[in-house]
Amino acid sequence: MSQARFASCIPLPLEHKVLVNVIEKAKDWALMHGVGMRDKKHFTKDAIQIAPFVLLPSPFPRTEFTKAIELQTVLNELMHKVAHNEEFLEHTLQNALQVDEFTANLYDIWVKVRNEGITQSVSLGLFRSDYLMHTADQNRIKQVEFNTVAASFGAISSNLPAMSRYILRQLNRGDLIKNMPENRALSGLCSGIIEAYDLFGIPSAVVLFVVEEVSYNICDQRFHEFEISETRPDIMIFRKTLNEIYEETELNDKKQLILDGHPVAVVYYRSGYEPAQYPSSREWDARLRVERSTAIKCPSIHYQLAGTKKVQQALAAAGALERFMGSSAATTRVRDIFTGLYSLDFDENGERAVEMAIADAERFVLKPQREGGGNNLYGEEVRDALLRMRHSRERAAYILMERILPPLVSGYVVRPGAPVPPQVVDLVSELGIFGVIIGTKDKIISNRQVGHMLRTKLADADEGGVAAGLGALDSPYLI
Ligand code: ADP
Ligand code: MG
Ligand code: MG
Repeated sequence: MSQARFASCIPLPLEHKVLVNVIEKAKDWALMHGVGMRDKKHFTKDAIQIAPFVLLPSPFPRTEFTKAIELQTVLNELMHKVAHNEEFLEHTLQNALQVDEFTANLYDIWVKVRNEGITQSVSLGLFRSDYLMHTADQNRIKQVEFNTVAASFGAISSNLPAMSRYILRQLNRGDLIKNMPENRALSGLCSGIIEAYDLFGIPSAVVLFVVEEVSYNICDQRFHEFEISETRPDIMIFRKTLNEIYEETELNDKKQLILDGHPVAVVYYRSGYEPAQYPSSREWDARLRVERSTAIKCPSIHYQLAGTKKVQQALAAAGALERFMGSSAATTRVRDIFTGLYSLDFDENGERAVEMAIADAERFVLKPQREGGGNNLYGEEVRDALLRMRHSRERAAYILMERILPPLVSGYVVRPGAPVPPQVVDLVSELGIFGVIIGTKDKIISNRQVGHMLRTKLADADEGGVAAGLGALDSPYLI
């Protein structure tokens, strides 16, 4: 089936002079409002460069956008319940744990802290559910994945509608602005951190952001700090790597995590989601120490486990949603956003999935239990990998997913250092909806949808992570 095509909000191409002029303005707007990242090639802490962005907002059907917004609290609650169902998580992950050391390490920490007795029953989730529209299903949204750890770009994305409005006005198309939804993801996400901080209830406590050795996506992270500092001047925020946490923190006799003489109220992980972020046992020790502590973790380790691809696949199996949600209208709405997801375990279903994918590899994506982009296999790679792993236990570390073919739109991508003006190219967009949830096993204290992000990539690129340098920031133009 060929891909559908949406018309861009302004007919393209733009006239050369107009285009060059508006890109120059847009770049300055971006730089001056923190639509930026640090340069990976020429790293310095003294400068940021523009983050890649799409010049004009990309069309997105209003009904599908609204659906994604409305589903967010349902999905938040579902994932909260999954995370607190020990039996389901254990059963779902057991085969993957035997071959995936990283997930096994996370899982071991979870078992350890449970056996010792949970010191902090409250979890904080700053989630993001991601969608592509599916040409084969009337351009309806299908869930790509559900992120429970370090879901990024809420902050920068909150600035994008204003940037698009500015650009449209410069092009004398201010009349289009009415079709662009506001985005308050930043204040919404920060409200979750602040609420968790207040639940912790110790006035001298601090907030700890767990960060990478080098934060390229610094604007997105710092905006959270600025926002919290502005809203709540009493809250001090520290940024530490896992290695620094190993060196600089301790647990006191009340199991409080002590940093710089203060108990830590909330730990917000912007790192710790991939193996490279744990280069030695020190980082794992630090992670365990944090999980043992009374700090409210964002995410708690069981939230992180619930966000694995394996859990996503298990939830698509017959009867799984009903187990958590009963047979309601909401259950049907959630099932409707699932696309084909298949286990590769060593059973009848697994064997069938392997054969199906080898026979028709182009139709599938092969996904390991990883986050952060760049880990999946597509097309020919799917076949090669499955032929290699057919009889190896290794295959249980992966899931198989039907490939979603989103509609195309023409547009301009503005990238740092790229020639101006850029060519008109074919693009596809991925929508992310942010959610905040706070709760214990028995009680959900807060649950809300807080905003969105749109990132757009070249139509022929397999993946489109912005931080990975493939995608571009965008905002929806509702049609
Ligand atoms: P990660 O946790 O690494 O971000 P994702 O599941 O989001 O993993 O996959 C990364 C990217 O791969 C997505 O942003 C999307 O561009 C592409 N992708 C993932 N699953 C599919 C799919 N089923 N069909 C088409 N593209 C997909
Ligand atoms: Mg992810
Ligand atoms: Mg993703």
